[in-house]
Amino acid sequence: MPKVASRAEKPKLGQHFLSDASAAVNIVEALGDISQETVLEIGPGRGALTSLLARTARRLIAIELDRVLAAQLRMKFALAENVEVIEGDVLSIDFDSIFGPKPGSSRPGIEFNPRPAKVVGNLPFYITSDILLRLFEYRRYFDVLLVMVQREVADRMVAKPGGSEYGLLSATTQLYGKARRLFVLPPDSFSPPPKVHSAVVELRISDRIADLGVPEQPFIDFLKLCFSQKRKTLWNNLKSAYPPAVLQAAMETAVVKPSVRAETLTLEKTAALFRALGATLISRN
Ligand code: SAM
Repeated sequence: MPKVASRAEKPKLGQHFLSDASAAVNIVEALGDISQETVLEIGPGRGALTSLLARTARRLIAIELDRVLAAQLRMKFALAENVEVIEGDVLSIDFDSIFGPKPGSSRPGIEFNPRPAKVVGNLPFYITSDILLRLFEYRRYFDVLLVMVQREVADRMVAKPGGSEYGLLSATTQLYGKARRLFVLPPDSFSPPPKVHSAVVELRISDRIADLGVPEQPFIDFLKLCFSQKRKTLWNNLKSAYPPAVLQAAMETAVVKPSVRAETLTLEKTAALFRALGATLISRN
């Protein structure tokens, strides 16, 4: 008779719950003193981090998609006045209504506390990039993101230009802050264990868009184009979008060799090239 997979054997929603108590302590300690801070926890699950955060955070907002887990957490923290459990999808939750200025109120955002919030989460792997992009979009409300992701993703987030790990995720992450990998956790730190190692990444938000002198969305679109085919040279990735003469002139102005690959360029250099391409419209055929 075929074996029926139990819930524990068939994780849904990326549910790999942290079972290593000392790792939970290390993650929460990496946030520093949160006694005066608002903390946003993404995917609290069974509350491995939530219980520790609730002890010290001034205010804790936890967003959990799983209805049953959210209900259990609400019961668990019913008496904790500093904890708010929201059943919802972090990809569609209205961050403005949580952190933004309240209509009719002269107070600045984030209620009584104008300080940005700290984000922490053992992220569901299946939507890691989407969550990061959404947090970047709302970065005005946050100063630190402390996220547990697949180790390979962590390595890409912190990779420096020139290395083989450096790619679109590295460039976009580093556009919004300073990333560093804090520690690695093996699969048996979780229940059920995932197939891969995990790593905790700290991203201190510091927006580099203004320093780079580029408009945000067009520059991100340009980065996507630069990295569209990783094995190809920058010239080959860009030639479908710009006339050769324009591209050649811009590369000369920005002092970028046509034969390089996008992964070798710093963000400053890529921005210089983008600026040198100026008002030229991207014309993809
Ligand atoms: N924080 C807990 C821990 O460390 O044990 C659980 C981490 S588990 C890897 C990811 C959690 O995110 C699960 O509880 C899952 O239900 C929740 N989740 C998955 N997708 C979500 C989404 N779109 N929005 C909010 N939570 C989500």
